[in-house]
Amino acid sequence: MTNIIRANARDTKTQPNTNFVGTVYADEVSVGQAPSRMRSTRVTFTPGGRTNWHTHPVGQVLFCLIGVGRYQLEGDQVHEIRPGDTVIIPPGAKHWHGSAPGQLFSHLALSENDDNGNGADWLEPVSDDDYNAQPAPMT
Ligand code: MN
Repeated sequence: MTNIIRANARDTKTQPNTNFVGTVYADEVSVGQAPSRMRSTRVTFTPGGRTNWHTHPVGQVLFCLIGVGRYQLEGDQVHEIRPGDTVIIPPGAKHWHGSAPGQLFSHLALSENDDNGNGADWLEPVSDDDYNAQPAPMT
């Protein structure tokens, strides 16, 4: 049966400042019905906006949609990410993602909950020093 969820059927939500720095918007794309656990969300970061450090028990995939973003795995350099890029985040890996300084950025976030229904474990905010670090050269 045809199942189309229209763009205006669900309002944009503002992400809580307990888990994010700056103004970050979330638009739900899909929430899998069992046996699927797949969730997809379009996340839009205003300039300076980013997640806190966090982990995903089952990992996460980010597909970059518009603007210029940033991604960092703990212990690695910050990486600039751009539309068309796909970021593969392993289960349990501490990381953050967000806009590049001065830039709007949106990505599609794809993840699955674990057996307990948890999709993310939230940690401390990303410091301004970490956020503003010189990114690694583009490869
Ligand atoms: Mn993440």
